[in-house]
Amino acid sequence: MDKREFESDMTRFILEDKRNIVENVRIFEAPLFTYGSPVDSMYQDLKDKKEANLPDLILPKEWLSSAKTCIAGFLPFTEQVRFANRGGDWAAQEWLYARIEGQAFINELLQRGTAYLKGKNCDTVVPSLSENFHSIENMGSNDWFTDGESYTSTWSERHNAYICGLGTFGLSKGLITKKGIAGRYFSWITEADFEKNHRTYSRIYEYCTQCGACIHRCPVEAINEKTGKNHDICAVFLNNTRKRFSPRYGCGKCQCGVPCEHQIPDKNKKAAEA
Ligand code: SF4
Ligand code: SF4
Repeated sequence: MDKREFESDMTRFILEDKRNIVENVRIFEAPLFTYGSPVDSMYQDLKDKKEANLPDLILPKEWLSSAKTCIAGFLPFTEQVRFANRGGDWAAQEWLYARIEGQAFINELLQRGTAYLKGKNCDTVVPSLSENFHSIENMGSNDWFTDGESYTSTWSERHNAYICGLGTFGLSKGLITKKGIAGRYFSWITEADFEKNHRTYSRIYEYCTQCGACIHRCPVEAINEKTGKNHDICAVFLNNTRKRFSPRYGCGKCQCGVPCEHQIPDKNKKAAEA
């Protein structure tokens, strides 16, 4: 199937639909897409690795036995959202819109993409919208190579994105893409046989310079240069933001005002120089 036609339809929706604007805040820029194989051995490795703590991971072929492609998408937040969240200890209003209304918009996008692919007679599953999806709250912070995490899930957007060639992890445990780390990930598993991307990296932290800027941005010292992000400290703070901003919540300070915010950072540039 022609990926250009699919991407063009999804991109038009993102850029033109009014739900991508909340209270005069435009949430997302144009997306990135990459395409991986549902039988990539890395999915099974991920499930088997004790350190990854994803024993409940449902493999792509278990989500959809006839699957031919895993699609990984990244929606970068706009400059308006990212810049607003560069200062202060609490999330900017723009970030809160992006986090909550933005996720609702992504769910619309996922449904639109599913209808598009099914309209081409290609059965398609969205793990994150499936009744078989479950996660321990704030699991989105887990780390492939870190022991002792208490969060798990039946699907991980960021690990799928890594496997499909979209980017590599950062110290703050987000995924750094060529449009940076500040944004949201999503995926489809489909019978559509799209041409696959090849991973252009071999190491899980390849794009992260370990500059340490995200350490200094975190208001609750949840990130450490040796051990990465402490997910429990981060989760407690996020819960506090729920109390303050209910019905919204969010933080994202470690993704804004850092060298990897909107690009793959310059390997030779350390935080002090940035
Ligand atoms: S701010 Fe620096 S250390 Fe933190 S994730 Fe980005 S590149 Fe890595
Ligand atoms: S989301 Fe906020 S609390 Fe969590 S690690 Fe990033 S900056 Fe720290």
